[in-house]
Amino acid sequence: MSSPVENVVIVGTGCAGLTAAVYTARANLNPLVLEGAMPGGQLTTTSDVENFPGFPEGVDGFTLMDNLRKQAARFGARFEQARVDSVDFAGQPLTLRTAERPIQARTVIIATGASPRLMGVPGEKEFFGGKGVTTCATCDGAFFRNMDVVVVGGGDSACEEALFLTRFASQITLIHRRDTLRASKIMAARTLAQPKIKPEWDSVLTEVQGTAQGGVTGVKVRNVKTGAERVIPCKGVFMAIGHLPNTRPFAPPLDVDENGYFRPADGSQVKTKVPGVFVAGDCADHVYRQAVTAAGMGCQAAIEAERWLAAHGG
Ligand code: NAP
Repeated sequence: MSSPVENVVIVGTGCAGLTAAVYTARANLNPLVLEGAMPGGQLTTTSDVENFPGFPEGVDGFTLMDNLRKQAARFGARFEQARVDSVDFAGQPLTLRTAERPIQARTVIIATGASPRLMGVPGEKEFFGGKGVTTCATCDGAFFRNMDVVVVGGGDSACEEALFLTRFASQITLIHRRDTLRASKIMAARTLAQPKIKPEWDSVLTEVQGTAQGGVTGVKVRNVKTGAERVIPCKGVFMAIGHLPNTRPFAPPLDVDENGYFRPADGSQVKTKVPGVFVAGDCADHVYRQAVTAAGMGCQAAIEAERWLAAHGG
């Protein structure tokens, strides 16, 4: 028996996807939400979220996403574990191909977010996941109690990771390729005021060193101004150099910019060139990339999907 054509399929369960789920479920559209490898998205790997409106004391990322999921489920959103491998958006109904089954839909909201970027240096892959190299201090910080670690990057994520690691590590070297942080003023000031955090300015990571048995033993860095190289002994390497948008299964047919982010159409943030297909959150936004802006885009995409369905026969 073939599956029915869905009104709305939402791909992704971060802030954007779950907000779209709340809105489309409340509009009685019975959305199907596809959960990928990282349910809840990037916020589930962060600690306290201090800037999401409505939480004067802050809220931990996992709780925020868990509440959002419950809120969507309360209005009837259905959840299914599936990763979209490719799509056929040539006409209606729209088709999403997953390993399990093809899914047909009248409208699709893509909210697949972005994944942490890696440097591509020797040793990084070899020691990734359990051997010392990681992209998530919240997940792995506690493994580095009383050890020296490095954090790579100069943005808000790098500062957040470094600050979080002060709870566990003895010393955190913050390796940044420039001599000022890109992070917001408040995060940069907090980071540089922390005695456990030592910046390594103008420096790039060129190699992660270690042994098969013991994992990471240190990192090699090169000063971009002097060319001098040195090894910083450490047990943990936290990569925080930004993110790559998860847009590949959808582009083509959808348009992306030179960095792989969806390029919206029609003067809108969330419409695409394919009728009935909308995008929301970090996969389509390289400018703001905040939980609250992703939620806002999820809301916009949901309203657009609702309007599209109303205009095309309810
Ligand atoms: P980001 O702002 O893009 O910063 C990435 C950092 O990595 C930059 O300092 C960049 O250096 C460096 N970098 C990139 N590629 C590199 C490479 N190949 N080698 C060495 N260094 C490299 O990314 P983010 O920190 O993940 O933040 C993303 C967005 O989320 C931002 O809008 C941020 O404000 C937001 N965010 C907010 C919070 C918060 O408010 N609590 C927490 C996390 C993230 P350059 O500076 O030289 O470009």
